[in-house]
Amino acid sequence: MKSFVQAFVLLALASSFASAFDPSPLQDFCVAIDEPKNAVFVNGKFCKDPKLAKAEDFYFSVKMPGDTNNPVGSNVSAVNVDKIPGLNTLGISAARIDFAPYGQNPPHIHPRATEGLVHFQFNIGKTNALAFAGLSSQNPGVITIADAVFGSNPPINPDFLAKAFMLDVKVVKDLQAKF
Ligand code: MN
Repeated sequence: MKSFVQAFVLLALASSFASAFDPSPLQDFCVAIDEPKNAVFVNGKFCKDPKLAKAEDFYFSVKMPGDTNNPVGSNVSAVNVDKIPGLNTLGISAARIDFAPYGQNPPHIHPRATEGLVHFQFNIGKTNALAFAGLSSQNPGVITIADAVFGSNPPINPDFLAKAFMLDVKVVKDLQAKF
């Protein structure tokens, strides 16, 4: 019994001083700067000294509609880490998409992000519409499917694309010329 109590007391004393945790991997912010001098590299962009962070580092206005005078009738204004340096390391960004009447945002993917539509509004200036999208990356990137398939450089073999899309090879060559 005595040795049990001794062992118990020894363990209790030993464990009472045991305290361990990982340092938090999170940070409040890491404002991106282009000049790496006196900065810390974390992920993607160099971080500004947090003491020098300003409110403007977290602000960008997309009030002005983008120019929709193009073949797809839409314009995407990306609001990523290049526009809001405070987004660096936060894993989020946004985009404003303006639409002309019958305009569309063509099928595309974002290789570094998932995307969700946050807001869609019609009748902006009577004829246009706009959408706001949220993305799960500070720099989502974009690959427009039609550009990648028909506008790649070097081009994909038109015979291959004709078979894949069940099209006449002349149609494929016509599409490739457009892109
Ligand atoms: Mn998108």
